[in-house]
Amino acid sequence: MTLTNRDLIELTEWRRRLHRQPEISNEEEKTAREVVNFLADTGPDKVLTGLGGHGVAAVYDSGEAGPTVLFRSELDALPIEELSGVEHASRAPGKSHMCGHDGHTAILAALGRQFGRERPARGRVVLMFQPAEETGNGAAGVVADPRFSEIAPDFAFSLHNLPGVPFGEVRLKAGTVNCASRGMRIALDGKTAHSSMPETGTSPMIAVSELMPALPALGRGTFADDDFGMVTVTHCAMGEAVFGIAPGSAEVWATLRTRRDERMAELVAAAEALATGIAARHGLSARFAYHEIFLASVNAPDAVEHLNRALDQEGVSRSEETLPIRASEDFGIFGHNAKSAMFFLGAGEKHPSLHNPDYDFPDDLIPIGSRIFMRTARNLLG
Ligand SMILES: [Zn+2]
Ligand SMILES: [Zn+2]
Repeated sequence: MTLTNRDLIELTEWRRRLHRQPEISNEEEKTAREVVNFLADTGPDKVLTGLGGHGVAAVYDSGEAGPTVLFRSELDALPIEELSGVEHASRAPGKSHMCGHDGHTAILAALGRQFGRERPARGRVVLMFQPAEETGNGAAGVVADPRFSEIAPDFAFSLHNLPGVPFGEVRLKAGTVNCASRGMRIALDGKTAHSSMPETGTSPMIAVSELMPALPALGRGTFADDDFGMVTVTHCAMGEAVFGIAPGSAEVWATLRTRRDERMAELVAAAEALATGIAARHGLSARFAYHEIFLASVNAPDAVEHLNRALDQEGVSRSEETLPIRASEDFGIFGHNAKSAMFFLGAGEKHPSLHNPDYDFPDDLIPIGSRIFMRTARNLLG
């Protein structure tokens, strides 16, 4: 019971088709339709659409009692101009699948093909195609959807391809695998003035110049520490692009990153106290807003055991090297009411990095990823 050569050719063609027509977070309407159409042939027992935005879930039910096992992929692409030069490059200007979510989606579609031919012996499989992973609101939206209760899993699994790791090797461990992160927007409000009489206004200039180096200095520990914290200033804007007005406001944006959610709460409090103090010293007020909030993704030991067993049976080499990963991932939300685990699948040591403009998902990962998931599902459900 494996994929045929015909399946692989069709899945590869379909992956490239998705690659040509990328849609960014929260706009994945056509991509969701592609998924529903592709799976129609496989006769799922239930299909839910519009989950938390454009999310799609396909259920393959044994009709017998048993656990619900969910596999997750992402539908969204990125606002990046593709420079890969491949024949199936993006046809949408300024948008592209530079994270390989097209490939992850093809891997789940491969499971659909196989469960379409032979249902699990007990329980059921849910193929969850979630929207808006890159902005951090997709998984939360899916889980918050009232219809999610119809597919609430006992186990949830996901994979992400990872350039820099030898092709086809797995990185997996229990505990934190992806950091918590959040975008912090600090607005400093003062008062504009004529540029010939700056003393009549309140410029945020000095405050901004103090705040920018002080924010990264809040970070501490090396990445190996449980207590690790990091602040990266990503953007700054002050006043208007003119010569006649002394500025009356400024914004500084920063990304906060930690290994633990509790540590994130401390780092947020420290950053707010810092900015409020600097603003007050210069007669300004400070406002805060938060965007793209990701909780840490934490693998449950139980779920990791199931993956490890499947990897050994499939002869896939694995290690804990390079984990956790500094980048964030919203899959962890599926683990709040289920045993969940995510692993990383090597895309090759020299492969362009994720979000680089010349990245493309390696099609040869489709059979490897789907083999690992299939074995995991069959072990749990027979
Ligand atoms: Zn990404
Ligand atoms: Zn991704």
